[in-house]
Amino acid sequence: MQPFAYRKIHDVAAAIAQGAGEPNTVFLAGGTDLVQLLQDGIARPAGIVDISDLPFSSIATTIDGMRIGALAKLADVADHPQVRAHYPALATALGETASPMVRNMATTGGNLLQRTRCLYFRDGVSSCNKREPGSGCGALRGEDARAALFGASEACVATHASDLAVALLALDAEVLVAGPAGERSIPVERLHTLPGDTPWIDSDLEPGELISAIFVPRGAAGWAQAYAKLRHRASFEWPLVSAAVSLAVVDGMIEDARVALGGVAHKPWRAEDVETLLIGRELDPVLAREAGEAATEGARPLAGNAAKIPLLARVVSRALADAGGLP
Ligand SMILES: Cc1cc2nc3c(=O)[nH]c(=O)nc-3n(C[C@H](O)[C@H](O)[C@H](O)COP(=O)(O)OP(=O)(O)OC[C@H]3O[C@@H](n4cnc5c(N)ncnc54)[C@H](O)[C@@H]3O)c2cc1C
Ligand code: SF4
Repeated sequence: MQPFAYRKIHDVAAAIAQGAGEPNTVFLAGGTDLVQLLQDGIARPAGIVDISDLPFSSIATTIDGMRIGALAKLADVADHPQVRAHYPALATALGETASPMVRNMATTGGNLLQRTRCLYFRDGVSSCNKREPGSGCGALRGEDARAALFGASEACVATHASDLAVALLALDAEVLVAGPAGERSIPVERLHTLPGDTPWIDSDLEPGELISAIFVPRGAAGWAQAYAKLRHRASFEWPLVSAAVSLAVVDGMIEDARVALGGVAHKPWRAEDVETLLIGRELDPVLAREAGEAATEGARPLAGNAAKIPLLARVVSRALADAGGLP
């Protein structure tokens, strides 16, 4: 492991100044992803600012929704009574994330900013434009079953691994950010970037910017919701493909819909064509299957990941069936 300067900071302004002021400085929250990357020599920061004592842990209901601190533990959010009552897609996504031990350490902010599970990125030696810009993309010629189906580039075909981000996209959530230029909010849809020719950039955050909280609007609270995930093994595993759906159903008819897909792109992927297909229709098993097929349109598989296409259709149908209480 390369040496780095470690500082634990208890004040938000000081953490931002430290993060923005010194090049190659990163924030440390629960450490469940970053420490692994440090140990494997994949992350090589000059400085680490430990933010785990900042006042970002609360989970509160507000007049217009829910504010979930960026340092709230995944386990606490998953078990929160208001989350379970009003945002079941979120509770399910978090309940199926990692293991109880990891969920007790990992934070919401860190989950959104975890790095890809691409094998070639994680092995520390293969060509990887994300880890070593300009070195090439091992996965493009390799056999990575996790590779993207949508929005990839010649430079990178990695996927984003977060379950939480997919549920938040379906709930139209925003990320609240504090940084050197003040505070701003970013729709979850725009937090993560596509790889293009700069795959080493994962998010829209500027140096020194911290996620302080996630805001989930009240609107989604009354909608029928579900999250479904398919993975290589039943627990302790990132999604191979996943889907979150949030439906406004009035007198049996879908009046509005948000559908988000996971494990298929460099960012959580909004399936707007599927939303259009659903709106104005009555949810039944036939429509759920039709929507699953529609979610795969435009997918561009590589040699090793075509099996994800039928799985994607199934996971979208499953999420819709769960949201509608169908068998
Ligand atoms: C065995 C195992 C299984 C897992 N399975 C899953 C799974 O099924 N689904 C899933 O979604 N995830 C899974 N994960 C990933 C896990 O959820 C993340 O590692 C965790 O959520 C990261 O949170 P953290 O607080 O530990 O972040 P850290 O490791 O401390 O940080 C991660 C990144 O986020 C940045 N960061 C953290 N907080 C902030 C902030 N507030 N503002 C700005 N930057 C910040 C850090 O600089 C770092 O780059 C798994 C992890 C493990 C170890
Ligand atoms: S897909 Fe992206 S992360 Fe994976 S090897 Fe290629 S450049 Fe690296």
